[in-house]
Amino acid sequence: MLQEPYPELDDLLEMMGEAGSHLAEIEASEGAAGNISVCMRWPIELRTRFPVVTEIELPQPVPELAGATFLVSGSGRRLREIIDEPAASIACIMVDQGGHTGKYYTSYQRRYERVTSEFNSHLAVHYDQTLSSGTNFHALIHAQPMRLTYLSHIPRYQNEQFLNQHLLRWQPETIVNLPEGIGFIPFRLPSSPELMAANVEALRNHRVVIWAKHGVMARSDVSVKRAADRVEYAETAAKYEYLNLCAGEIGEGLSADEIRQICNMFDVQQTVF
Ligand SMILES: [Zn+2]
Repeated sequence: MLQEPYPELDDLLEMMGEAGSHLAEIEASEGAAGNISVCMRWPIELRTRFPVVTEIELPQPVPELAGATFLVSGSGRRLREIIDEPAASIACIMVDQGGHTGKYYTSYQRRYERVTSEFNSHLAVHYDQTLSSGTNFHALIHAQPMRLTYLSHIPRYQNEQFLNQHLLRWQPETIVNLPEGIGFIPFRLPSSPELMAANVEALRNHRVVIWAKHGVMARSDVSVKRAADRVEYAETAAKYEYLNLCAGEIGEGLSADEIRQICNMFDVQQTVF
């Protein structure tokens, strides 16, 4: 939830750009992989930057979000290039009354046809989270961090408890930033209704979830960059775990007792250890 003064459109585009370029730096967005969206529930002026207006049908009706605006990365655009020319890569959708359709605002510079094919998953989570928490701002990132995705191919890491007890043991900050641990969704076809439904469910209880053999989705109701941080915390944990596997598992990691002491010290309610 954000308080006034709310960020301007240009500030939001800049933060999407910075998040996109950082995700590329941490090897979480090769080529055109990954996508970013934000949902804002305050009025925002779009026409100056995005003067081309058409209408689109939304992937699902979202009547309570009438008047809300989404900024969404375009299909096939590179996250690392948003920062250079945001209007070429980002579309805006303002939800119409009734919530079945939206005004689709784009720029003359746009270099995509449609918004990301994962927009159905983004919209479903924005809808679920804004309705359940009442937040006026919500950011989502889908990225493909290499080591987290690799670990999701190894059967024993496909168990959520095993996954979290192994990944969250390498740095004290990890449990503080991800006290609910990392959610795990078994492989579902990209863009499918099955992935969409599992993703909504998993993000109710987690700030970041793994889509097995594909990537992750992270959320924040504070900023796009906070969502990107969550991808990075989870991927850093996976880097340690991967390093430990490569080194013949000689690292001992923080013990469950040490992690519980950290949580007591920082007043963190955690459910993993
Ligand atoms: Zn993907």
